[in-house]
Amino acid sequence: CGIVAYIGQREAYPIVLKGLKRLEYRGYDSAGVALINNGLQVYKKKGKVAELENHVSGKDMRGHIAIGHTRWATHGEPSDRNSHPHVSGNGKLSMIHNGIIENYAQLKQELLNQGHIFKSDTDTEVLIHFIEEIQKSNHCTLEEALRIALKRVVGAYVIVIIDEDNPDTLIAARKGSPLVIGVGKGEHFLASDASPIVEYTKEVVYVNDYEIAIIKADELILKNISNERQTPYIQKLDIEL
Ligand code: GLU
Repeated sequence: CGIVAYIGQREAYPIVLKGLKRLEYRGYDSAGVALINNGLQVYKKKGKVAELENHVSGKDMRGHIAIGHTRWATHGEPSDRNSHPHVSGNGKLSMIHNGIIENYAQLKQELLNQGHIFKSDTDTEVLIHFIEEIQKSNHCTLEEALRIALKRVVGAYVIVIIDEDNPDTLIAARKGSPLVIGVGKGEHFLASDASPIVEYTKEVVYVNDYEIAIIKADELILKNISNERQTPYIQKLDIEL
């Protein structure tokens, strides 16, 4: 199970795909990617990363922001529809998640009562619908909605979200699962560990529990759950390829 994401000037999909291959050693049952290029595009498949690659061959995969995921199923059998990324009800937000949302059943029931329709059996899809619902009812930004949502979430997670209406920003958060951000020149790389990042940059930031990262090509903002800015601590990797 792993996550990879990219934002910058390069083509995002090849970087994310290669990153997913580097994380294959962790074990997984399905893989998927989402990118923004004339709207949100999501592709996901049960099976190996190579099957995802076949599935998208011939498709227009251009774009400068993308997220990728390998899944180790905990809630919902391994299948195409349970694979990540998952999408909000309005089709604008897409999320990848490693970990478990322990109170998803209660959140799901509330959302069902509010008219949400789910396409998968995962805890992850519940969380992205929950964030969407908060954003809609509070008329707030995605970042604010995420902060409110995480205060109610019980469990462990690393999540990354992209928003069709804000194609220049990745939003990520973690609690109990690792998240590394590679800092490049006018670009950022996210991954579960440094192995997908080392070939691009040696400067990394390890995100702490309960931190939210707002990432643009040339800007990295870290905040705690109380919305206070944290200074990113940039470390130098001394790993050779
Ligand atoms: N709990 C999520 C699911 O079952 C994420 C699993 C993972 O960490 O890959 O889809």
